[in-house]
Amino acid sequence: MTKFSDLNLNPKVLKAIEEAGYESPTPIQAGAIPPALEGKDVLGIAQTGTGKTASFTLPMITLLARGRARARMPRSLVLCPTRELAAQVAENFDTYTKHLKLTKALLIGGVSFKEQDKLIDKGVDVLIATPGRLLDHFERGKLLLTGVQIMVVDEADRMLDMGFIPDIERIFSLTPFTRQTLFFSATMAPEIERITNTFLSAPERVEVARQATTGENIEQGVLMFKGSRRDREGSEKRKVLRALIDGEGKKCTNAIIFCNRKTDVDIVAKSLKKYKYDAAPIHGDLDQSQRTKTLDGFRDGTLRFLVASDVAARGLDVPSVSHVFNFDVPGHAEDYVHRIGRTGRAGRDGKAIMICVPRDEKNLSDIERLVQREIPRLENPLGGGKPVEDETAPADATEEKPKRSRSRSRRKDETETVAADAAPVEKAPDEKPARSEAAQDGEKSRAPRNGGDNNNDDTQKRSRGGRGRGRKGNDNNDRGGNTVVGLGDHTPEFIGLSFKERR
Ligand code: AMP
Repeated sequence: MTKFSDLNLNPKVLKAIEEAGYESPTPIQAGAIPPALEGKDVLGIAQTGTGKTASFTLPMITLLARGRARARMPRSLVLCPTRELAAQVAENFDTYTKHLKLTKALLIGGVSFKEQDKLIDKGVDVLIATPGRLLDHFERGKLLLTGVQIMVVDEADRMLDMGFIPDIERIFSLTPFTRQTLFFSATMAPEIERITNTFLSAPERVEVARQATTGENIEQGVLMFKGSRRDREGSEKRKVLRALIDGEGKKCTNAIIFCNRKTDVDIVAKSLKKYKYDAAPIHGDLDQSQRTKTLDGFRDGTLRFLVASDVAARGLDVPSVSHVFNFDVPGHAEDYVHRIGRTGRAGRDGKAIMICVPRDEKNLSDIERLVQREIPRLENPLGGGKPVEDETAPADATEEKPKRSRSRSRRKDETETVAADAAPVEKAPDEKPARSEAAQDGEKSRAPRNGGDNNNDDTQKRSRGGRGRGRKGNDNNDRGGNTVVGLGDHTPEFIGLSFKERR
């Protein structure tokens, strides 16, 4: 088996690795470190959890250990799709450079430009950044990328999902042609292939086995759930979620609850809080200081439930997560693997429980095909088949209870989709019902794919179903069988007249 000491890493880096407690390199490290140290471009196909951060950080700092940084001209650049991932890379960097004199700057949104400018002015060896913030600095004329000798692109497929590819291309073009590129992606979508063909030069391709088969140490289950009514599905699903959590009892020390859409992340977190569960949301629209606080709380065990979107939770390294709950079936099968990989890390046992509504059954089949196993079906903890009424709601925690006539509320739903982001969460019983869930459908169909925060576009089904439409027509059936659909209660006289040709 390869040892770290076989890899030609700087002795001070080896010392830091030893102190980190790593015994031997992971497959992506054993594969990527030697060509990277030889100065070759590397195309690493690996996902988080494989040790890929060290696979580019260790050779990078070994190469940078010789030489000095110049003002405003960083010597290397690491691009990450999210602030959290960038911060995580920065932490890794600190761990491994402990015995070296290398400097870094972290350029992410939500942090003042002033502090970041100061660091860049002094000169940094490693710049770790999200693409947008990096370009902001560049455009302000504070940063030169012509000194970049090594450029790392991390989680390229997530960059693609988030629409960062044009930024990445621009950044590539601002760095010297002679730079070394270390490029990592979990999957090789055609667009990613195109970028690597354009910007990488004869790369060494290192692929580690995809985590397509999910770890044996993660117990999985799916609850097939059908709401009693479409407009109640959201609140009933939230109730089922609470019952599933309760069913796990003390075994559930902490959990990440994944939702497909940001609006649902907010709604589920708010609902759980209202029912006295220790929960907080994390997604891309939240303020950075709040995201950091939430994440820190989850990491140090003071927050029990993290309700997350795929983008925000992607790549996060929280060593012990006892449970993952998929409030929604992810629309992309690989996301299921990423999500449940948050539990059962480092050889621990984990449990992943998912709720599947009828319209997500196709996505469930895709997941089962990818992981090559049938996910065991779970019993509804609230009793099979029985509609899930929200009877246990505490006095201060009422969920939506539809009351008005169906045709009216449905028509409203179909015109009020824009209000999705501001949808009320737990409504007082006498408020207008059924808006938030249907409104979110509008959100689904409106928003582009951005890394899993929207999914399952079912607007077609909705319009096909046409619930609430044409009822007036039916109501007119008592007019001697001459049903007129769509004219309301009044049928103008001329409709009944026969036509005569005019001569
Ligand atoms: P990553 O895929 O970079 O997010 O790394 C996942 C986790 O594996 C992190 O907690 C690392 O600290 C840890 N790790 C990285 N390399 C090794 C190694 N060679 N041995 C043991 N753990 C490692």
